[in-house]
Parts: sequence; C-alpha cells; structure tokens
Amino acid sequence: MNDYSSKLGLYIGGEWLGPEGRDTTQPRNPATGEVIGELPSASLDDLDRALQAAEEGFAQWRDTSGTERANVLRKAAALLRERADDIARIATMEQGKPVAEAKGELGLTASLIEFHAGEAERIYGRVLPRPTGSRSLVLHQPIGVVAAFCAWNFPILNPARKLAPALAAGCAIILKPSEETAGSAIAIMRCFEDAGLPGKVAQMVFGVPDTISRHLLASPVTRKLSFTGSVPVGKHLMKLAADTVMRSTMELGGHGPVLVFDDCDLDKTLDMLVPHKFRNAGQVCISPTRFHVQEGIYEKFARGFAERTSALRVGSGFESETQMGPMANARRPEAIDAMVENARSEGATVLTGGTRGANGRGFFYQPTVLTDVPMTARLMNDEPFGPVAMISRFASDDDAIAEANRLPYALAAYCFTENGRRQNRLGDEIEAGMIAVNQLALSWPDSPFGGMKDSGFGSEDGPEGVMAHLVTKTFHMK
Ligand code: NAD
Repeated sequence: MNDYSSKLGLYIGGEWLGPEGRDTTQPRNPATGEVIGELPSASLDDLDRALQAAEEGFAQWRDTSGTERANVLRKAAALLRERADDIARIATMEQGKPVAEAKGELGLTASLIEFHAGEAERIYGRVLPRPTGSRSLVLHQPIGVVAAFCAWNFPILNPARKLAPALAAGCAIILKPSEETAGSAIAIMRCFEDAGLPGKVAQMVFGVPDTISRHLLASPVTRKLSFTGSVPVGKHLMKLAADTVMRSTMELGGHGPVLVFDDCDLDKTLDMLVPHKFRNAGQVCISPTRFHVQEGIYEKFARGFAERTSALRVGSGFESETQMGPMANARRPEAIDAMVENARSEGATVLTGGTRGANGRGFFYQPTVLTDVPMTARLMNDEPFGPVAMISRFASDDDAIAEANRLPYALAAYCFTENGRRQNRLGDEIEAGMIAVNQLALSWPDSPFGGMKDSGFGSEDGPEGVMAHLVTKTFHMK
C-alpha cells in the first residue's frame, strides 16, 4: 500500500477506519488515469455510528465557548499552512490542478478558517426595548447536526467551507467530500483533529453518495443540509430534506456571463480573462463562460482571446510550466466533447482547441474557444464545467443585460466597462449572487458567496455563512 492510500479512511467518533471488511472505491490520478489508492465506503452501520457520534459531539460542542472554538479553528489553519506543500501535492495528484493553483487554494482556505474563528467569537443576539420591568431577547443558537456534501473541484477549499462555519457556529457535522478527492479532505480533517477538535464533533464519510445522503437526511438527528455540486443533485437533495423540513444551503452550478463593453481596456481585460477562464481547467462554479462582447470590439476580442488561449501550456500539474492540468475525472472530457460536437453540428466555429489531449493518457481536454454558437446549442444553455469559452456579440446595454439574465443559472457575472452609470445599472439589473466589475475576484473569506435562481440559496463565507448554521429564538421576559 502506498503512502497516499494508507491514509485513506473514514473518520467516525474520533477514530480512523480503514478498508478492512468494507466495500472500496479507487481514486485515480487524472493526469495518467492510473488508480492511486483504495478508499473505504461507509456501510449503513458506519453511518448510524456517525449520526450517534455527531449527536453526542453536538451536546459537547454547543457548550464550548466561542473563544475555545475559535482557538481550535486558528490552530487548524496554522497546521494547514505548515502542511501546505504536502497537501497541495495530494490535491494535484488526485484532482489534476497545477501545484501553484493548489497552493493558492490552500492559502485562501487557511484565511477562510481564520475568518470563521473570528466569527465564532462574534455570535451576538439583540435586546429589544420594552416597558420598564420587561425585555425581549433575540438569541442565535447552533442548529444541531449538519450533513454536508461537497464536490471535487476545490478539494482543499470545499471541505473547509463546510467544516469552518459549522464548527464556528457550535454545530456538529457529518461531511461527505467527493470520493475522487478524499486524500485532500482527509488531510484537512487531520488538521482539525490535531488542533484539538473533540473526537465526535466532526465525522468524515465516503461511499455511495446517494446511499449516504438518503440515510443521513432521513435521520431526525440531522438538522441542516449543506451541498456544493450540480443543480440536478441539489434539487434531488432538497426534496429529501423537505420530509424533515430541514434547513438547507445550496451552492449549485453556474453559467457565468461576461459582458465586455466597447469602452473597456481591451488588452488588460483579455490578459485577465484568459488565464482565469482556464483556471482549474474551467471546473469552477463561478467560471466566466459566456463572453458577450459589444460589436465595436468583437473581432479584436475574439482574435486576442483565441491567440492567448492557444499559447497556454497544458500538462501534468506537477510540471512547473503547466498553466492548465487535466480535467478531474473521465466523465468531464467526455461531457465536454459531446457539448462541443453538438455546438459544431449546429454551426459553431472552433477558433482553437475542440479536441481531447494528444497522447491519449489521462483526462485532458484542450482549452477551447468557439464563436457563432447558436443559442439553441447545449453549450449556451447547460453548464459546461470545463475549458470552453463561447464568444458572441451584442449591440446595446439592454441586449447585454437580457442575455446575462436569459438562463435559470444566476451565480456569478462579470462586466468590463469604464462607464460608472452603466456599472451601477448592471449591478442593479443583472440576476446573479455575485457580480465583478473590471476584475475577477469573487471569493473572499469576509464576503457572502452564493447564488440566486437555480444556482442555489443561502450564502457561504462572511457572517452570513455562520448565520446559516444558527436558529433564531425570541425570549420575552417580565
Ligand atoms: P455530480 O452532480 O454527479 O456530482 C457532483 C458532486 O456531488 C460529487 O462530489 C458527488 O459526490 C456529489 N453527489 C452526487 N450525487 C449525490 C447524492 N445523491 N448525494 C450526495 N452527494 C452527491 O456531477 P459530476 O459529474 O461529479 O460533476 C459535474 C457536475 O457537477 C457539473 O455539471 C457541475 O455543475 C457540478 N459541480 C458543481 C460544483 C460547484 O462548485 N457548484 C462543483 C463540482 C461539480
């Protein structure tokens, strides 16, 4: 058994449980397609033990002071920074992104945990004025046991985004990260364990996603659902959660429109947009995806975008010159290939890319730029979640806003214009949970991250992320 595989396990009641006597799944290295380990799957008995441990862990953790909870979070963030090199390499091996990107993700994750440590110490209520001799209090208390499920695209950040707000709020949690990126999630869990988190407060399980979510969401012990993943799976989980009227946070997919107006600084905009589009091989829920460009600069924009894209270096995430790694699993290049072929058959023009990796190994897809994609093509309607950019043109501000709001997705939107009056209008009228103007950064520890419409509800990060784990009670005294 290799070193990576020997660390794969379930974490239940403060114990690490290996594959003995359990079914297993096999994570793969996406740059080569090779199996790299053996991951145990939780049985129904394991899940029942996780529920019981979490119930006991909650009783202990909710009575731990905010300062003590904050200390554990701060220590976990410090351990994460100390272990950065090792954890980033695990993320690259199992998910494919370049090591430098994995390190950037780790830095953001540590800052996010530190931010939540501060929030643990700032969970205040309110005192409402009443006639002399009486008063009303508004109290915020931890909701209870959280069942959380997250995807493979940010193997370090996603698990921490579930753990940090739950633990800051005083909740216990059962987390099911992606089976495909278990090693990174386990490394995060070990940081919390080594930071002194009491054993039963957080459990980590892997296995058959549908079996695990059905079992955990059917239990009266679970009081909150938190999910990061696709819209169809999110809708399915919301239906399961309805049976116990369970509070939910849904961080679902997107189809990010980018509105580029004639008055922007074109070269600067292109220099920013191209690397950002192909970051993480486009497997980002807030990825800029539909590029709508005003007619006066359309030709120049499309040419400049394609030139910069074809110069990107694609390869293993372990090679220092690599700018884009493989996709995370075999399903992704297959899905992208089918969408690009569909667009081609409907008349789209491929400016660059449009094929899988050259040497036939691993899960690569070339960075791809398309123009003339009809609005009926799947790419213009379904989330691609891959290294594909579609460029189209618009005439007026009204057209641009209508196109940005055309789809049921409403997560992230990007605008490039120097006109202040127009910036305000875009901020008011674009339907998206997060809007960036003349820059691309949308994920900050202190600002709420989340979508509208089919992209979900209930923010993560910022004070709102912790509030989503608290129930509100009023208490009237005389
Ligand atoms: P998927 O929907 O099958 O899986 C996404 C994640 O959800 C996986 O980690 C999986 O373990 C989990 N999952 C799946 N079914 C589940 C269930 N019944 N209960 C609990 N968890 C479950 O899709 P995929 O092929 O892995 O990824 C592609 C799609 O996922 C894309 O279309 C994209 O929209 C979406 N995605 C979104 C995000 C995001 O950040 N919003 C991240 C990754 C993937």
